[in-house]
Amino acid sequence: MSRWAWAEVDLGAIEHNVRTVCATVAPSAVWAVVKADGYGHGATPAARAALRGGATGLCVALVQEGVALRRDGIGAPILVLSEQPPEELAHAVRHRLTCTVYSVAQVEALGAVVRTLGAAPLGVHVKLDTGMHRVGAAPDSLSSVVAAIDAADGVRISGIFTHLAMADEPEDEFTSRQLDRFVEALAGVDDDGGDVDTALIVHAANSAGALAHPQARWSMVRAGISIYGLSPGPGVDHLTTALRPALSLHARVGHVQRVSAGERISYGLRHTFASDTNVATIPIGYADGVPRRWSSVGGEVLIHGRRHPIVGVVTMDQIMADVGDHDVAIGDAVVLIGTQGDETIAATDWANRLGTIGYEIVCGISKRVERRYT
Ligand SMILES: *Cc1c(COP(=O)(O)O)cnc(C)c1O
Repeated sequence: MSRWAWAEVDLGAIEHNVRTVCATVAPSAVWAVVKADGYGHGATPAARAALRGGATGLCVALVQEGVALRRDGIGAPILVLSEQPPEELAHAVRHRLTCTVYSVAQVEALGAVVRTLGAAPLGVHVKLDTGMHRVGAAPDSLSSVVAAIDAADGVRISGIFTHLAMADEPEDEFTSRQLDRFVEALAGVDDDGGDVDTALIVHAANSAGALAHPQARWSMVRAGISIYGLSPGPGVDHLTTALRPALSLHARVGHVQRVSAGERISYGLRHTFASDTNVATIPIGYADGVPRRWSSVGGEVLIHGRRHPIVGVVTMDQIMADVGDHDVAIGDAVVLIGTQGDETIAATDWANRLGTIGYEIVCGISKRVERRYT
């Protein structure tokens, strides 16, 4: 079964992007971030492509995401990026997921699970909050978390990291402040007896950090959006020109009609046609991840290599495009994101018009849209 709306994922592009990031950050390693189903690209295919491109580890947000990768036969190191609910920890241990910790409670809970299961000691990465204030140990509680790891049977520290809040705006000095705090904390862990430089995987950089802040690279970088070929933000666009977007969004024209000047269209009849025109209806809507507002901020589609405006509000399953006097037929190819002929509509074009970021666009393409791999 296949409907007339689908996404194409170019796994060669992901492989190329990872290779490009690897070359940029060497000798630091690249761990590919494949959370949220690989930013909508499909976690397992994206992970395999990233590993082919030179990534040496993977990062996920949830235990279930890591378990799914293991069930698909992926043996590379997998880091779960934040602390997890207690009931998830046994799954993490059984599937040898590297857990992130920043509280004594999580360290002790993990240790207890490892002992109960009779499992080998589990490596954990300690996350330090250096100013983003999302998750992580506050600098003054770091030593108690590290001490808890030392004291716990079944848990050993294998990494330490932080996360940057402003890396995609390279002019902003906050990144340096965060990195200074991180260096200070690393020195503290060193004093406590650990040998940070040689024994631990030290990391701080997301894609923007990896590309724009060489001093943030350490042992490895956690590259997400860049491996899918999208820029983390306008401030680092100039560092992403060698990357290739991996995802394109396609459909076929499902219905064509002639409408007269003065007629109106879609729910609320918010668009009035100024002249007689042809309208193509395309079977993809907000349930697929085309934001309902897309038509009111200048959304367009490509048909026959030309741009055509979406008219009327986006509905759950369909959108309408004003194709003028152009001769469009049922079954004609439509590109919503990607290239057709000489024209390109990028996920970041959507994001800029909608006042969001490319991440939200690609993550928002729903499960109802089949991913086809090339
Ligand atoms: C999502 C995430 C990343 C990846 O960020 P990108 O900007 O997509 O490269 C890295 N680290 C952490 C902690 C994250 O949550």
